[in-house]
Amino acid sequence: MNGESTLPQRYAALLARIESACLVSDRAVGSVRLLAVSKTFDASAVLSVARLGQTAFGESYLQEALVKIDACLASGADLAFEWHFIGPIQSNKTRPIAERFDWVQSVDREKIARRLAEQRPPDLAPLQVCLQVNVSGEASKSGCTPEEALALARVIATLPALRLRGVMAIPAPDDDPARQREQFSRVRSIYTDLQAAGFDLDTLSIGMSDDLESAIAEGSTMLRVGSALFGRRPPNPVAQ
Ligand SMILES: *Cc1c(COP(=O)(O)O)cnc(C)c1O
Repeated sequence: MNGESTLPQRYAALLARIESACLVSDRAVGSVRLLAVSKTFDASAVLSVARLGQTAFGESYLQEALVKIDACLASGADLAFEWHFIGPIQSNKTRPIAERFDWVQSVDREKIARRLAEQRPPDLAPLQVCLQVNVSGEASKSGCTPEEALALARVIATLPALRLRGVMAIPAPDDDPARQREQFSRVRSIYTDLQAAGFDLDTLSIGMSDDLESAIAEGSTMLRVGSALFGRRPPNPVAQ
């Protein structure tokens, strides 16, 4: 993808694409944040995008992320970084996530929420979290069921070291915009149901490189974009 274009060109094109999708959906451009998903790309790519003004970066593979965060902090001391963990979480790997990340968007069960809360260093701000919900029912996917979301939100609300910000989902890939929107609207209902239940949420994390227009149309407040910005990823990323 975009073999000839440079990172600054792709970043500018992505921001323009988000802006025109917001226009089409009659939304303020400032109502949608961009999370740059840098998994499998190295610190120099992150630093390049950070120097263009991007602050929020998403990572899925813990060991890779920890090395990258250190490298970015060492070489980019003048830059602001906000690190989001967006990958599946094994319960024996929660400590470095609680210690090194600002956000965790992939909280999908009580055990993980409790461990992250216990392990969040008290001198840091609360960990900002999203519930990951599985709306496509694929057994292989992470995420709680829509029915489990309210109970999980209630548990998180009892943990002062965590601050629940919203809901994240990765629907099954689908080329058809109408079906993309249908899946996103299911995520949006879970989000608005939680708001109606009294949770003070501001983050509906839906939309990736191939479906961000549909996500914006369905109310996304945070897009998680990797390949449209950094380029195509190797097919089989190194396992943890
Ligand atoms: C990899 C990843 C993305 C980015 O996907 P692209 O299609 O490359 O934009 C977004 N969200 C999560 C959870 C991911 O793992």
